[in-house]
Amino acid sequence: MPSTLITGIGTLVTNDPAYGTGPVGLLADAAVVIDGDTVAWVGPAAEAPAADERVDAAGRALLPGFVDSHAHLVFAGDRTAEFNARMSGQSYSAGGIRTTVAATRAAADAELDANLARLVREALRQGTTLVECKSGYGLTVEDESRALRIASSYTPETTYLGAHVVAPEFADDPAGYVELVTGPMLDACAPYARWVDVFCEKGAFDGDQARAILTAGTARGLTPRVHANQLTYGPGVQLAVELGAASADHCTHLTDEDVAALAGSSTVATLLPGAEFSTRAVYPDARRLLDAGAVVALSTDCNPGSSFTSSMAFCIAVAVREMGMTPDEALWSATAGGARALRRSDVGAVMVGARADLQLLDAPSHVHLAYRPGVPLTAAVWRAGVREV
Ligand SMILES: [Zn+2]
Repeated sequence: MPSTLITGIGTLVTNDPAYGTGPVGLLADAAVVIDGDTVAWVGPAAEAPAADERVDAAGRALLPGFVDSHAHLVFAGDRTAEFNARMSGQSYSAGGIRTTVAATRAAADAELDANLARLVREALRQGTTLVECKSGYGLTVEDESRALRIASSYTPETTYLGAHVVAPEFADDPAGYVELVTGPMLDACAPYARWVDVFCEKGAFDGDQARAILTAGTARGLTPRVHANQLTYGPGVQLAVELGAASADHCTHLTDEDVAALAGSSTVATLLPGAEFSTRAVYPDARRLLDAGAVVALSTDCNPGSSFTSSMAFCIAVAVREMGMTPDEALWSATAGGARALRRSDVGAVMVGARADLQLLDAPSHVHLAYRPGVPLTAAVWRAGVREV
C-alpha cells in the first residue's frame, strides 16, 4: 500500500499532549503521514517527509475517527410510530424493545446483515471509524448467537446483550431467563463476543440478576460493561465499578456516591445524549462527572427505539450545548474517550504507531462540530489507512 502525506492541515487534533497544546493536543499547520494501516509521522507541515501520495487539506481540520463505543445495530423493523407517539406525549419504557425483538427474530440473516452494513457505512460517512455492536434483539440462544456472528464480521467490538430485557416467553419466569442467559445462551454467544452487557434498570434486570449475568460472562472470558442508571437511580454504576467493567453507560441519574465511585475507578462513564434527546428526557450531567475526575466517553446508543442516530457529531453538539462539556472535552470523549471505554490504545488519537483512523472536516477547527450543529462536515475518512470517504 502506498504511503500518503496529508499536509496543509489547519488544525490537527492529536489527543496526545506530547504533540500539541491543550487537552486535545492541538497542532497548527500540521502534516500526517499514513503508511499501511498506521500513522507513521506527525508534525509541522514544514518538516514533513515525502510520501508516495499527497493530500492537501487546504487549511481544514484533521481529527481522529470517532469511536462509537455503544450501539445496537443488529435488528430489523421500524419504530417510527412509537417515536411519533412519544413525541405526542407518551413516556418511554424498556418494554418497547420487544417490538424490535419480534421483527428481528422474523428476519432472514441476509436482511440483518444488510441493515447492519448500511448503518456501519452511514456512520463511516460521518467520521466513525470504529463502532461497538451489541446483540439483544434476539433473546433466544439461536437469535442472540446469530446477531453476534453477523456483527463480528463488521467489528471486533461485539457485545453479548442477551440481558437486554426478559424474553417474552419468560415474562412469568425471569429467574428462568437469567438461567438461560448465564447458561446455554452464553455458551453459544461467547465465541463471537468480546464483551458482556446487561440492562440494569427497573423493568429489565435488577442488581442481583445483573451481577449473576456479568459474573457468568466474566467466567467465560468476556469483559463487562453495563447499561446503568438511565431511567432512574439504581445499583448499575456501583456494580459496574465493583466488577471492573470497562464502562458504565448512560449514567443519567447518579448519586454523589455513584460519581465518586466512577471517579475513583477505571470504569469509563459513557454518556449517550441521543437517548435523552429522543425520549425527551433530562440529559446526564457531564460537567459533574468531569469535575469529579471521571473519564467520560460520548456515544450514539444507535438503536431503533430510543436513539436512532449514528451521528457522533450530533452527540458532540448536544453534549456541548446541554451537558456542560467544552468543545475540546466533547471531541476527546467521542474519540479517545470511546477508545478508553473499549480498552483500545491503538485508536482515538493521531500519533505515531496508532491505527490510521482519521477524518478531515470541511471546517478549520473541530469546534465547528458543535458550532455548526446538524451540518454534514465530514470531507474525508481513512479507516486503518484506507480512504473510505
Ligand atoms: Zn444501549
